[in-house]
Amino acid sequence: SVIASAASAASSVAACEPLPVLGGDVLVPLVTGGEVTYAALDYAASAPALRRVWDDIAAYAPYYGSVHRGAGYLSQLSTDLFENSRKDVAAFLGCREDDQVVFTRSTTDSLNLLAAVAPRGTEVFVFETEHHASLLPWEQREDVTVRYLSAPRSPRQAVETLEKALAGRAEGPALVCVTGASNVTGELWPVRELAAAAHAHGARIVLDAAQLAPHHPVDIAAADVDWVAFSGHKLYAPFGAGVLAGRADWLRAARPYLAGGGASRKVTRRDDGGVDVEWHTTAARHEAGSPNVIGVYAIASACRALTEAGFEGLVARERELIEKVRAGLAEVPEVRVLSLFGDDAPRVGVLSFVVEGWNSSHFAAALSAEYGIGVRDGLFCAHPLVRTLLDSEPDEPGECGAPEAAPGERSLNAIRVSFGAGT
Ligand code: PLP
Repeated sequence: SVIASAASAASSVAACEPLPVLGGDVLVPLVTGGEVTYAALDYAASAPALRRVWDDIAAYAPYYGSVHRGAGYLSQLSTDLFENSRKDVAAFLGCREDDQVVFTRSTTDSLNLLAAVAPRGTEVFVFETEHHASLLPWEQREDVTVRYLSAPRSPRQAVETLEKALAGRAEGPALVCVTGASNVTGELWPVRELAAAAHAHGARIVLDAAQLAPHHPVDIAAADVDWVAFSGHKLYAPFGAGVLAGRADWLRAARPYLAGGGASRKVTRRDDGGVDVEWHTTAARHEAGSPNVIGVYAIASACRALTEAGFEGLVARERELIEKVRAGLAEVPEVRVLSLFGDDAPRVGVLSFVVEGWNSSHFAAALSAEYGIGVRDGLFCAHPLVRTLLDSEPDEPGECGAPEAAPGERSLNAIRVSFGAGT
């Protein structure tokens, strides 16, 4: 049946050797036993934490204390670990000397933080293909203008589209938002070229690296992007902590994202009964309240593990797995792999497809119930992108071996398989 063929394509990865450094280090890898009993192929949603990360947390857990607040040993230890975590993250991202690393809850939180600190009147250029975390925060600001850019069909077209839009931009601050690797197609976006285009027109650029950072090296200085956002739970650390790293000026000039203790340096009563506040100008300005010190320490631990292991093995491994799955799916005429940039576009270990005549949710449920393969189905918090992909014809009809679905038979959502260090 169609499901059996797709299941066999997806589970063919079970035969692969674990990745030497990280593969053996992941707590919940692919569980095999001659036949696959459970294959977790949803790394793009959340990646299981590395054993080393859990070990680091376990070693630290008996000693944690409140950071920046106490004179005692535990508090000092925790403050050191917390602040050193910033350095580890900065090194992992290749930050410039004067960049700030702000700890947040997630990529979504990081991009909302940037949206909150963008100067009044900023013109924001965002591809409609972005993840909602990158697409939606701007709509919350009434004093910025959002320019939506249409879905490009090649990396080159992405750059051209941006250049054209920027050429007509108004005076004043401008920001381009782009994802490094799509959480739907896995395709890599031309970040350097987009950054060059942004800067040539006096705009800033923020990179949504939620999917890029776990699969591919990120170098903020070399790519010349102004900010990078990512989440710990996709980078082999647990849920609850994320990062916004980059230029300090907008962060320093804006009101604190959260007001409260930790963000304020000095608070004084005024004669009229009010208070005057002097806010920190460091990352602490946007980190009010007791921070998620364990989550932050876990991110730093994952960053160190990935830095030590290097990305070469992981990148090659994911490419191999994706090719295997693609080859298997190509044998199934009802399957169409979704792609914005075409089959040959470089991508990370993320791939989505639809099956003609099938509702993707039913298909994904069957993969789980009948074959023990855990995938994701839906619109992946990128509704405009998935709708574009579902509505679009293949670049050359028949290229993917998929006949066009009759009207009314199109899937309304898609199925995604994604890999990581445990597969
Ligand atoms: N950006 C991309 C490309 C993503 O894939 C995701 C999560 O799926 C996010 C942003 C949001 O990440 P989080 O849910 O951790 O905030």
